[in-house]
Amino acid sequence: MPYYEWVEATLPVRTAPMASKEEVCFRRCETLGIPVQTAPTTTGDSYRPQQNAILQPGGHAGRTEDPRLLIFPRPTGCTFCGHRAQGCMRPVRAPRNQFAKRSTDNSYVPMALTADVWAPGGRAAELVTDAFVTRVHTEAGAATGVTWRTGATGDVQREDARAVVLADGCTETPRLWHNSGLPDPDGWAGRGLTDHHLDSVIGVFDHDVGNTRAAPVLRRGAISPVAARWSRPGSRPRSRPSSSPRPTAGSAARTPTAVARAGRGTGPPGGRTGRGSPT
Ligand SMILES: Cc1cc2nc3c(=O)[nH]c(=O)nc-3n(C[C@H](O)[C@H](O)[C@H](O)COP(=O)(O)OP(=O)(O)OC[C@H]3O[C@@H](n4cnc5c(N)ncnc54)[C@H](O)[C@@H]3O)c2cc1C
Repeated sequence: MPYYEWVEATLPVRTAPMASKEEVCFRRCETLGIPVQTAPTTTGDSYRPQQNAILQPGGHAGRTEDPRLLIFPRPTGCTFCGHRAQGCMRPVRAPRNQFAKRSTDNSYVPMALTADVWAPGGRAAELVTDAFVTRVHTEAGAATGVTWRTGATGDVQREDARAVVLADGCTETPRLWHNSGLPDPDGWAGRGLTDHHLDSVIGVFDHDVGNTRAAPVLRRGAISPVAARWSRPGSRPRSRPSSSPRPTAGSAARTPTAVARAGRGTGPPGGRTGRGSPT
């Protein structure tokens, strides 16, 4: 998997530091008899610290709540402001490529724009923004360019190219494909869309588990955005160990054993740290 490894090294993907809310999750998993996952591949019921692609905290990040000390470059990486499960546009006043969140526009786009600086023989890419491609042109069965519309002005322009990479996402790619009259001999362009279900487990606790905040926990030495993962692959029924506490009527809303399965889209923000787990 060299491409995955390259991406993980570039973004960079690391095991997130753990905080009190993760400890609550891990403790509960252990109580339920769920083993810790020690290998990268999930093969059975297990829990583990989660990996994510958020720049690790440095300097004052996470060590103070004084806003004057939380302006770049005093902090670097995630400042644990506590409101983003997957990193955000901080530290305040950081250059774009130093934002905590390693989304494409913060990571690969700046890299492409500066490729002449950091890549041997690299050429800086030109980024055309607000450009909505309306057609892919072809000649003799090969893509030769695109026409796009500038959103702000409505101007239409055409660019010819030796190579055209169509990467509009799973919905827009087939739409543009069909709108451009590209070949679809098997009839599969735009079909076969699959999605995955998002489950959330929510509990009401007697004590503050620091779920939405980070800084107070960091003072005790460790902190992170959502970083615990409980995996339950497949639909095999799993019996509850007899030693596990069971929720009882009337206690459901007050104990950590009370869990409510929330429907799609009602859980915490998704991403590497949250989507798909636990399922
Ligand atoms: C809420 C959410 C959470 C997710 N979490 C995870 C996760 O944790 N882990 C994971 O691996 N994946 C996750 N995914 C999936 C992941 O984001 C996608 O698989 C991935 O972004 C797809 O990349 P892409 O480059 O193919 O398309 P996209 O990232 O969708 O990029 C397509 C781009 O093309 C642009 N575009 C579309 N049409 C045109 C046009 N006509 N002209 C010009 N530009 C156009 C769009 O504006 C967009 O910027 C998540 C997705 C969502 C929605």
